[in-house]
Amino acid sequence: MKVTTTASTSGAVPANAVPASSSRASRIAPHSHIKGLGLSAEGFAQASAAGFVGQEVAREACGVVVDLIKTRKFSGRALLLAGAPGTGKTALALAIAHELGAKVPFCPMVGSEVYSAEVKKTEVLAEAFRRAIGLRIKETKEVYEGEVTELTPAEAENPLSGYGKTISHVVIGLKTVKGTKQLRLDPSIYEAIMKEKITVGDVVYIEHGSGAVKRVGRSDAYASSYDLESETYVPLPKGDVHKRKELVQDVTLGDLDAANARPQGGQDIMSVMGSLVRAGRTEVTEKLRREVNKVVAGYVAQGVAEVVPGVVFIDEVHMLDVECFTFLNSLLESPMAPTVVLATNRGRARVRGTEDVVAPHGVPVDLLDRCLIVKTVPYSRDEVGQVLKLRATVEGLQLGEGVLERLSAEGEKGSLRYALQLLAPASILASLQGRAEILEEDISEMNELFLDARTSAARIPLDGGFDGGL
Ligand code: ATP
Repeated sequence: MKVTTTASTSGAVPANAVPASSSRASRIAPHSHIKGLGLSAEGFAQASAAGFVGQEVAREACGVVVDLIKTRKFSGRALLLAGAPGTGKTALALAIAHELGAKVPFCPMVGSEVYSAEVKKTEVLAEAFRRAIGLRIKETKEVYEGEVTELTPAEAENPLSGYGKTISHVVIGLKTVKGTKQLRLDPSIYEAIMKEKITVGDVVYIEHGSGAVKRVGRSDAYASSYDLESETYVPLPKGDVHKRKELVQDVTLGDLDAANARPQGGQDIMSVMGSLVRAGRTEVTEKLRREVNKVVAGYVAQGVAEVVPGVVFIDEVHMLDVECFTFLNSLLESPMAPTVVLATNRGRARVRGTEDVVAPHGVPVDLLDRCLIVKTVPYSRDEVGQVLKLRATVEGLQLGEGVLERLSAEGEKGSLRYALQLLAPASILASLQGRAEILEEDISEMNELFLDARTSAARIPLDGGFDGGL
């Protein structure tokens, strides 16, 4: 079975890396100042640490959850964060992923994402879960260079076109300055040898890794070698013809599913054992997922790969319906489940998809029973100011005199999110005025242009009519 391990389309983001181009990555970008929960060794929250300000009780509670996860006492359960918008629920979930280790996948989604015309609701959830399970593949690459001393097709049952013989592998003898070695090549590599017209006496390079030869080519000069860092051929000091390096590649199960579902799944970063027939595949099916799981289990058994369970974060969980909640329960039971963090800003609400079932947070009680619920609280003006300062530093923005105080007051009046969102447009106004520094007058102009949610709701009645004062 051959599974493509190209990680080209990942929507999951390693908790400590923020690639620029994906919608999920852009969702994480506003949290790039969050580096962890900022707890002491005893589990107490420091007022401001690891990019986290205030919200001490919730951070300490999340610290307990991290300990439960690490000691494998959280399986089959979920964390539910309940609190007003902009009170750091996403930030807490991301911080949990950071605390679980480097490059732990973090896959955020919003409950309403399940409602799409093209994909089944449960598929969207299943995919998010797969994207929250990482796979760290350790690959050892070796590059040999030397003179071909023998080239022997070994006979077996697989026909090899163009050669006129039935062969399964080829043995190539290679004379290097360290001695002669014999390497076993598979037929696809032998095709490359035939194409390049490589023969006994030629000087070639051979790239070898994870038990298989990857590339073979003619060397321009004996004294050159493939540099694994720069992926180029560089002059080689005589006597060193054999380089070795361990490469670590982080992918998610979702990446593997997607790469193998595409008809010609992109370029193989690493060709793996076996041969999964890919022709014509266009969608991820349960069968494909099972096949990927089987290959992954094989890697893990061989010590080539390690499974890294990450965090799936479902914001606005009250938007899911009863069918999704049932599916979520079954996903939580699966042996390869990531840590599940749910978030809501609803109190009692009707469970979607039911006529009249009202439950706390709009979540059915059987799922709530599995949840540890943690509340987040609104921020004080001072806390809003500290977060604003952190974001301004990360975004490289200069705040003039009084701007921080003014924005903090806006945040206290509206929400932290509103105050943070004013930063970027205010910096645009400043640069339009030819200034690098944001001044108070930019914030005043912002307030003329935009409304915070509370002011907007007060001025625009719910029936959609407008009051004359706008
Ligand atoms: P919503 O319910 O609307 O999704 P939320 O509760 O998930 O909101 P976040 O998105 O986590 O809120 O917070 C809004 C912004 O404020 C983010 O940039 C986040 O990183 C930052 N933030 C929130 N709380 C804190 C905090 N305690 N310390 C530092 N930054 C914070």
